[in-house]
Amino acid sequence: MDGHAVVVGGGIGGLAAALALHRSGWRVTVLERAPELGEVGAGLALMENALRGLDALGVGPAVRAHGRIDGSGGLRTRTGRWLSRVEAAAMTGQLGTTMVGIHRADLHGILRDALPPAALRTDAEVLDVTTGPHAAEVRHRRHGERATLAADLVVGADGLRSTVRSRLWPDVPPPVYAGATAWRAAIAWTDPLPTAVSWGAGAEFGMLPLAPGRIYWYGAVTTPPGGRAPDELAAVRERFGDWHDPIPALLAATAPEQVLRHDLYHLAAPLPSYVHGRVALLGDAAHAMTPYLGQGAAQAIEDAVTLGAACAGGPAHLDAALARYDRQRRPRTQALARASARAGRYGQQLRHPLAVALRDTAIRLTPSRVALRQAARYADWHPPRP
Ligand SMILES: Cc1cc2nc3c(=O)[nH]c(=O)nc-3n(C[C@H](O)[C@H](O)[C@H](O)COP(=O)(O)OP(=O)(O)OC[C@H]3O[C@@H](n4cnc5c(N)ncnc54)[C@H](O)[C@@H]3O)c2cc1C
Repeated sequence: MDGHAVVVGGGIGGLAAALALHRSGWRVTVLERAPELGEVGAGLALMENALRGLDALGVGPAVRAHGRIDGSGGLRTRTGRWLSRVEAAAMTGQLGTTMVGIHRADLHGILRDALPPAALRTDAEVLDVTTGPHAAEVRHRRHGERATLAADLVVGADGLRSTVRSRLWPDVPPPVYAGATAWRAAIAWTDPLPTAVSWGAGAEFGMLPLAPGRIYWYGAVTTPPGGRAPDELAAVRERFGDWHDPIPALLAATAPEQVLRHDLYHLAAPLPSYVHGRVALLGDAAHAMTPYLGQGAAQAIEDAVTLGAACAGGPAHLDAALARYDRQRRPRTQALARASARAGRYGQQLRHPLAVALRDTAIRLTPSRVALRQAARYADWHPPRP
């Protein structure tokens, strides 16, 4: 097969797509605008669906070896009272697996190392994409020079503020602020730690063990967009420093330069299609969602595996392949994006004391088996057959 695919964006979604297409016999070029391939961010929770996708890409064992396989934990109040609790053994028994906590940079590095180095071009910012019925062109600037690449297939994996989407889907409204900002850090930590999410009024704090000796924490609060503190760690301590143990100790073990802050944005209006001519959108470019279900990267991985399987027949059968990709991915990812927004409204963003009390009682009364099934229902996904 002599098909050439250009992937715009070298994040987790772009690298996973490049790997999926490479394994399906495509010649692949990844254009990443950053001067070096890398990943900003701290930790990621990968549920069974993401792990099945990574297995299909041949990197599941490396991901499990670099991550922390666990799942014991649950939901708590800000005082530490457990609202629901799940043991890793119960999760494995019911779902066949626990989940893996991994540093984003480790996952990104594993995907990058699985690709031929010649496929990866950094300092390559895509400026425009055009497409006809049989081919597409990608205009970009590489090391300051303008250049054009011809492709049988272009994958727009350029994230939340996708250039590919804004060029070819000009009617899609830009991402909207989801009402909250999030701080994150990956830090050294050796004591045992459950995977837990704790809720206060308009605030949520999460913790997740990563590889041995490292954990990831995040804190999210409802606030207007664009806020910045002179010392973000001090701002986190002010919001979460009096929450339950070990949150104060985690913050004490964090250095100011380890803290990242991002306002949360999502695509509130679902796209009418993820395909335009010979261009397919994937990951946050297609369906940027709030992080409340921890499924954004997982969905990008599912997209990538599905695209690779659909396009295994090469450029000759692309019309049907891309239609199949759109059919298989759009309903699921858009339902997940809606569910994630709902989870935020019901969880982190709930502020009224009566509503909080009612929610907490409802969760406490839910049997753990049912809670686990609900929490994991989106993890029930299998890679399609080519
Ligand atoms: C606080 C927070 C916590 C999260 N937690 C989880 C979690 O636990 N589990 C989970 O599955 N997901 C989680 N997510 C979601 C996840 O981070 C994203 O969904 C995922 O990283 C999207 O990957 P992507 O490759 O589509 O986009 P991105 O990671 O944004 O990558 C896009 C790439 O394209 C490049 N690019 C952009 N424009 C251009 C251009 N014009 N030319 C060339 N290159 C370009 C960028 O430099 C970047 O490298 C979380 C998100 C947030 C904000």
